[in-house]
Amino acid sequence: MFFTNSVKIGKEVIEDLFFFPESQMLDCNQYLINNRENDEIILFDAGNGKSLKALFEGMNNIGLDYKKITKVYITHEHVDHVLGLYELLDVMKNNPPEIFAYEKTAKILQEGNESEIIPRDLGISSSMLGIEIRPIKVVNIKENDQFRLNSEFTFKIFYTPGHSLGSIIYYEINKKILIPGDLVFAGGSFGRYDFPGGSLTKLQDSIEFTNKLDVEYLLPGHMNISDNGNEQIEYSNKMVHSIRDYF
Ligand SMILES: [Zn+2]
Repeated sequence: MFFTNSVKIGKEVIEDLFFFPESQMLDCNQYLINNRENDEIILFDAGNGKSLKALFEGMNNIGLDYKKITKVYITHEHVDHVLGLYELLDVMKNNPPEIFAYEKTAKILQEGNESEIIPRDLGISSSMLGIEIRPIKVVNIKENDQFRLNSEFTFKIFYTPGHSLGSIIYYEINKKILIPGDLVFAGGSFGRYDFPGGSLTKLQDSIEFTNKLDVEYLLPGHMNISDNGNEQIEYSNKMVHSIRDYF
């Protein structure tokens, strides 16, 4: 069983956009937007499921009600980003949020394809985690799709494979916010490319592409966030291109 903190401490990045850092074991950073214009909450990535209660507690502490979550946007298909979906759908079964993911990730989630969600190298299974992976309803989003949440937030979606086959990034065009999942992290680091579906050259190309976006707030799937996005992504781009794949 995982140990999780009883509460995730939320931090306001900018008005209405909150950062909830990952818990210690196989979890991911989560972001949410309090869409006051529609009285709803939009969540990015679902975490490992074990940390969901800690997220709800943390939301409660800053006056946000998890029952208002209407949409969940997933960055990619990996266990630490999606397992929370099953818990969330159970808890909210009377009023379930819509789940959004890119084609390949959407298909994996629609089929409940455990071997794609939990890479074998991790040496764990969903039963060890106490969560049952099952087929769920997912809205399929496409490359270059754009969605407007309200007058403040409009996101564009770009397909950025390399870390996994279903990896996308969410780019907010007004405030220059990037939610890149596990593509790039702060401090020159970047996503692993050795899981099934991973590719170093695709990762390099995807980071090269991302480096052309104008990014102020970098909100990655793990570790710290940054308000110095362009510089961080450029650093990661330099680092990832310094690797040669010998395999
Ligand atoms: Zn991942």
